[in-house]
Amino acid sequence: MTIKFEDFGLSSELMQSINKLGFEEPSPIQAETIPLGLQNKDVIGQAQTGTGKTAAFGIPLIEKIQLNNDTIQAIVVAPTRELAIQVSEELYKIGYHKRARVLPIYGGQDINRQMRSLKKNPHIIVGTPGRLIDHINRKTIRLSSVHTVVLDEADEMLNMGFIEDIESILSNVPKERQTLLFSATMPDPIRRIAEKFMHDPSLVKVKAKEMTVPNIQQFYVDVHERKKFDVLTRLLDIHSPELAIIFGRTKRRVDELSEALTLRGYAAEGIHGDLTQAKRMSTLRKFKEGNVEILVATDVAARGLDISGVTHVYNFDVPQDPESYVHRIGRTGRAGKHGMALTFVTPREIDIIKNIERTTNRKMDRMNPPTLDEAIE
Ligand code: ADP
Ligand code: MG
Repeated sequence: MTIKFEDFGLSSELMQSINKLGFEEPSPIQAETIPLGLQNKDVIGQAQTGTGKTAAFGIPLIEKIQLNNDTIQAIVVAPTRELAIQVSEELYKIGYHKRARVLPIYGGQDINRQMRSLKKNPHIIVGTPGRLIDHINRKTIRLSSVHTVVLDEADEMLNMGFIEDIESILSNVPKERQTLLFSATMPDPIRRIAEKFMHDPSLVKVKAKEMTVPNIQQFYVDVHERKKFDVLTRLLDIHSPELAIIFGRTKRRVDELSEALTLRGYAAEGIHGDLTQAKRMSTLRKFKEGNVEILVATDVAARGLDISGVTHVYNFDVPQDPESYVHRIGRTGRAGKHGMALTFVTPREIDIIKNIERTTNRKMDRMNPPTLDEAIE
């Protein structure tokens, strides 16, 4: 029997918003997590990229907000600014008919402006760790009425070194609370956090044969370092992606690659952690609107991003580890759509591909680099 949104006993305001979002039926992680969330249980949720984890915690969280209570009742912690904005937008949509107030709080934005927004009594705050701590220390955010905490992309927050910040945030929230922790990957340090800060959590792991989703076609391309750029441009010409994300190893690499692509006439822009917040946001906006068709990114700048229309992901440089691979290619093939992922591999890197294949339990197909003729056709 398939579970329907109607089965959760949600309020009519929530059902209206879910209909407006166009969600016909709950995804597997949502089907399992929403009832637990509504029962105030702690949950560790693990499911593949693009399978609706935001609404899996967002629906019960919004349902439980008391509108006439003007205190902060829930906080969501996310690793990057872009993700905090994206999650707050999705929560805003879920809470639209209920009129729940959601505020994103992230670094790089004027703190005085944030303080003014905080005075408007948001019910839910979605923030990055550093800026949340800043407000807690200034006493501009009070967490004494928070009943729900969500850690989204928890493993990435650990990778980025936010563990102490997260512990400090959690220690400012009443112990009598619900804690929800989400990630597509679940390395050991996460389990330790869960043991320390969660109360008898239910582990919801959506079982899948492979870590990546089946609707992403996966290829690797053997290519020498000095040929990478030519091969990339040929592939772009052959594939003509609607939107593409190209991953580079370092910030400098991203800058060089986006400049080189622009010089060749591609609508490309780069995104990484050294750019100003205004620049990062304007680049993402242009990409979402299709005015920039190619986003060149470091790992961190693209984690969790949900942009419809991303048909291709190119790993110009091989990812450092299988988890990074899973997240990178997970920017395409979202919500059941089709996607293609190509990973460039130099002769000495072939072991990395094998390691990725072992971890994801999925084979990549080998693609020969296209010849010039093919590209011109
Ligand atoms: P994840 O966090 O698992 O990577 P997201 O929460 O970002 O995935 O969701 C991916 C996309 O799927 C979003 O655009 C979201 O609006 C959409 N989505 C979520 N739940 C459903 C659903 N039940 N039906 C259809 N689309 C959904
Ligand atoms: Mg997510």
